[in-house]
Amino acid sequence: MTSYPTMFSPCELGPVTAKNRLLMAPMVRNYAAEDGSSTPRYLAHLRAIAEGGVGTLVLEAMYVRKDGRGFPSQLGLQGDHVIEPLRELVEVAHANGALIGPQLYHAGRQTTSAATGDTPVAPSAIPDPLMGEVPRELTGEEIGEIVTAFGAAARRAMEAGCDFVQIHGAHGYLVTQFLSGFTNRREDGYGGDLDHRMRFLLEIVEEVRSAIDGRLPIFVRLSGEEMVPGGLTLDDTVAVAQALERAGVDVLDISAGNYASFNRGYMIAPMARDDGLLVHLAERVKAAVSLPVVTVGKIRDPEMAESILADGRADVVALGRQLLADPDWPRKAEAGEPERINHCIACNQACTGRLFNGEDIWCTVNPACGFEEDFAAPPPARPKRVVVVGGGPGGMQAAVTAAQRGHDVVLCERDDHLGGQLIAAAATPHRPGWEELHRYLEGELRRLPIDVRLGTEVTADVVRELGAEAVIVATGSQQTVPRFDGSGDGRVFTSRDLLEGRAEAVGHVVVAGGGCAGAQTAEHLAVEGHPVTLVEQLSDIATDAPLDDRSLLIGRLRDLDVDVRTETTLMRIDPDSVTLEDPSGTQELACGTVVICLGAEPQSALVDDLEELDVHVLAVGDVVAPRKVTEAIHEAAQAALAL
Ligand code: SF4
Repeated sequence: MTSYPTMFSPCELGPVTAKNRLLMAPMVRNYAAEDGSSTPRYLAHLRAIAEGGVGTLVLEAMYVRKDGRGFPSQLGLQGDHVIEPLRELVEVAHANGALIGPQLYHAGRQTTSAATGDTPVAPSAIPDPLMGEVPRELTGEEIGEIVTAFGAAARRAMEAGCDFVQIHGAHGYLVTQFLSGFTNRREDGYGGDLDHRMRFLLEIVEEVRSAIDGRLPIFVRLSGEEMVPGGLTLDDTVAVAQALERAGVDVLDISAGNYASFNRGYMIAPMARDDGLLVHLAERVKAAVSLPVVTVGKIRDPEMAESILADGRADVVALGRQLLADPDWPRKAEAGEPERINHCIACNQACTGRLFNGEDIWCTVNPACGFEEDFAAPPPARPKRVVVVGGGPGGMQAAVTAAQRGHDVVLCERDDHLGGQLIAAAATPHRPGWEELHRYLEGELRRLPIDVRLGTEVTADVVRELGAEAVIVATGSQQTVPRFDGSGDGRVFTSRDLLEGRAEAVGHVVVAGGGCAGAQTAEHLAVEGHPVTLVEQLSDIATDAPLDDRSLLIGRLRDLDVDVRTETTLMRIDPDSVTLEDPSGTQELACGTVVICLGAEPQSALVDDLEELDVHVLAVGDVVAPRKVTEAIHEAAQAALAL
């Protein structure tokens, strides 16, 4: 008997029945072939998710024509060549008792000519603020051709054995561009009032139904609110939902936002946003229609999912990034082991961060995401004695993966606690995810047969004494503290000293270094009540933060009255003041403490020391070059797999 009876009850989605009320939200991975077809990597990835127990799999946004492609290695449904590879994905879903279907989409203006091979198209020639290119306005004839392409794509999905099709009418892509007054300024029959702006979507519904001869249910995803001036409101979406019900659509899926409002943190909610932040949108739509309604948006906890469903606020809960972080989320919840779930921490570093860089997605907390084939390789015939040096995220992950592969693992940490840089990261406001990741990794270290030795400094002699056959060096980095003119060195700390509790700020604080870490440190200090000046040499701050996180962080710094000085350099530190230089000249600023956050350098001495030994040495994470947690965990797991 499961603790989540509603979540694990069957659900009718039009004429088909899902085994439970959990649905994989569509997410572009960039794992597909250049021609849009699935790949062995995609298949292995999807297999892991299907085996994890989710009831319904909505494949990622699949472009119906090349001019609607948004990302270089996205799945497509633009030609018959994709049918056979898609059939393999369908078979994996069906073998695990899950329903599967594509999300039919055209990016419209929310793409680049690099992705489409031509100028992006849209209802009106208004550029998207994020993508920047001025799209070409579609003619009436071209609109008809795209409608036809949606139908042809649906027919291909049906021929591949899919159980349903979903039309992507959310997130500011072409269908939303027609629906919304924010992007649709047409004066023909496809523009004007909402009834006319709906025409494109309703024609697609009709065309899709006709192309599949009514044999598959049709789902539609909508943005409950677009969150831009003049964009779709919840009232608009309710009206669209009711029109879709009248048009015979079977299931509605309610998300929010578009690229223009992406930085507000609703479309793919970052760590600073609350869990379940979009449920009220689905709830309102559900009250206005009699169709099953799916909700989405940072629903990470089985208790929360169950209560949403049991309270009748939605019929189905979509899990997106959560299934990248832990494809076994449903299985663990059903088995009564929610504490074993590896939660998505909403860092947006490795999934959307990489995606919008044109890269394949990874997951910060799950190094197997996208690398399922590597992790499925048989364990080594002869396990090794492995010493992992460093108890930060990289070291903990290396120990976990090595132990999972059957190796005999000792993890040595110089400090009297584990966590490394996760401790400083979690100490800043609105960053609870880093503490969650820390807890999860420590839990895995306890669960697995790993010999954890705290307070242990590792040298070549220690490695020899431990009988290591392989050493994974994850000793991290130390913050760079340049020499400054002046005699105020006694008031200078690094941000890690401060955030890890080894130093205390006094009075007005100058934070030198306005990258993401420096900006978060400034926020931490301002929340503690210090007047703060944040000094950055570049023309902007936190440019290394994910887009939505960055704009929320900048807004909070503004609200906290943090004095942000860009194109400014810290030149001199005296006992009661600092000297700053900007394009207008130099100026002295009274301050009590200086916090340095100007980058880091690898702590790699042990790698050199171990050269004399006959052991396999692998350096990972910041030891190679200071970067983010994502790279530390990914490289650590790959090193453990290579043993
Ligand atoms: Fe979640 Fe971060 Fe993984 Fe993305 S990279 S799925 S936000 S934990």
